Formats: sequence, C-alpha cells, structure tokens
Amino acid sequence: MKFSIQSRNDSQSNELMGLAKNYLQDFGLILDELEPDIVISIGGDGTLLHAFHNHVKRLDKVAFVGIHTGHLGFYADWKPSELEKLVLCIAKNQYRVVEYPLLEVNVCNNSETTTYLALNEATIKSPSVTLVMDVFLNDRHFERFRGDGLCISTPSGSTAYNKALGGAIIHPTLRAIQITEMASINNRVFRTIGSSLVLPDHHTCTLKPVRTQEFTMTVDHIQLKHDELESIIFRVAKERVRFARFRPFPFWERVHDSFISNE
Ligand code: NAD
Repeated sequence: MKFSIQSRNDSQSNELMGLAKNYLQDFGLILDELEPDIVISIGGDGTLLHAFHNHVKRLDKVAFVGIHTGHLGFYADWKPSELEKLVLCIAKNQYRVVEYPLLEVNVCNNSETTTYLALNEATIKSPSVTLVMDVFLNDRHFERFRGDGLCISTPSGSTAYNKALGGAIIHPTLRAIQITEMASINNRVFRTIGSSLVLPDHHTCTLKPVRTQEFTMTVDHIQLKHDELESIIFRVAKERVRFARFRPFPFWERVHDSFISNE
C-alpha cells in the first residue's frame, strides 16, 4: 500500500510525520506523495482541507485520515498518542471507507466554465459594498439577495463556517447542499428568505451578479480569482470524499464531542 502524509508544518506535526513515515515504511508501506492509497493529515481540519485539495483529482483512489495536534478536529479525530495504534491498523488494512458528499462549484463566463470541488463550503462575499446577487433555484428566479454574502456548504462542512452563520447541521448520509445567508438586508423594500435552504441531489442553485461589483469567492481555504463572471452554479458533486474509518465514530458523536464536550 502507498501512503503520503500532510503536515501542518509546526514542530509537533513534523515530528509525528517523521515517526509515522518510519513506522509505516518498517511495515513495508511505500511513501508516494503523488499517488497514495491513503493520506494521513497531521495538524487540524485545515490541514485535511489542504490534503483534500492536493489530491482532488484522484478522490476515487485515495482515503483520508486525520490526526489532530491541536484541539479535536472534525476531520482530524485521532490523538497524537494513538499514532502507533493507527499505523498498525493501516499496515494491517484494518479499516473501512466511508464516503461523504461534496459541493460542485461551476464558475461560468462566456462559454467557459471552471469547476471546483469543496469539502466544506464555498463563499461569495463583498469586501465593502452590499453584495447583490440574483438567486435561482433550478433555473427559476427565487430572490434578489442583498447582504454581506452567501455560504454554500456540504453536509460535513455544515459544522464549519455554516454553523457559525446559524445554518443547520446536516448528516453526511444526506446528499445535499445548504445555502446560508450572511447578514441579509430585510426591510419593506428588500426581501430574502432569511433561513437556510437545503437542496437535494440534482437540484441547482445559481448566483448571478446584478451589477458590476467586486466580490471575493472562496472554496474551503482557497481564495478564487475570477475578474468577471456571468454566473456560479452549485450542486451536489458526483465525486465523493473517502475517509478511512478504523473504529466507529458516529457523526452525532463527533458533533457532540466537537461542540458540547469530549469528556
Ligand atoms: P482552520 O484550519 O484554522 O479552521 C478554522 C476552524 O474551523 C478550526 O477550528 C477547525 O477545526 C474548524 N473546522 C474546519 N472544518 C470544519 C468542519 N468541517 N467542521 C467543524 N469545524 C471545522 O482554518 P482554515 O485552514 O482557514 O480552514 C478553512 C475553514 O475555516 C473553512 O472551510 C471554513 O469552514 C472555516 N471558517 C470558519 C469561519 C467561522 O467559523 N466564522 C470563518 C472562516 C472560515
């Protein structure tokens, strides 16, 4: 089996990376940064997001697992003290793979479309002036959004930025995406739905800028650069992310331990 390791690059994560490489190679596993079967992320959730985007072209062939060197992460749920146990499970192939849905983001300009995949979310924000976007659901005009921005998240990303915005937490067995507002303007003149919308598989959400205006766009931790665009189309991606599970850790337990208490 081939493995690679993504480190957050702090001293603790790098030290663990060195240990993990030695242990795994002692068991006969091959270090392959380009085409691994399993990627071990050491750091935090952000490190796993980096690992995901580094291997986004071969998601069907790779499984991810995360060790947290800071606080318990949503994707990074193994403790540094469990490294040897984890290495043994990997070496003995003692894991199953669980798949979570992803968000597909299509940025369209003239006849060109650029496609991105998000593990957590995509955001559209205006740095200074009010963001004004027409929102279409399945090609039907739904509302004209005015406010700070919009966050479109995956079920596993629903516990990240989306949660901080007051969105719902969605179980990742549901193939869905969620649209959550950032400080929408609602008064007698302007109106948005106000609550988060959850779209099922095969439904689309399209955003179209109403006027020429500056806005920023992100996909997970990545800031996109598109000077001009006609529309952005969001849907549940056909691709999925694969996580290596070595022991049961049900989603609601993960939510409880991350946000309520892990004692
Ligand atoms: P990071 O790694 O420091 O992550 C920021 C925080 O978000 C960490 O506490 C991390 O554990 C948590 N997080 C990330 N993904 C999560 C998930 N799926 N469920 C629960 N918590 C999660 O920072 P980064 O490298 O900049 O990561 C980018 C991510 O940060 C974005 O995808 C976004 O979700 C998150 N973010 C959150 C806020 C907010 O909560 N107000 C604002 C901006 C970005």
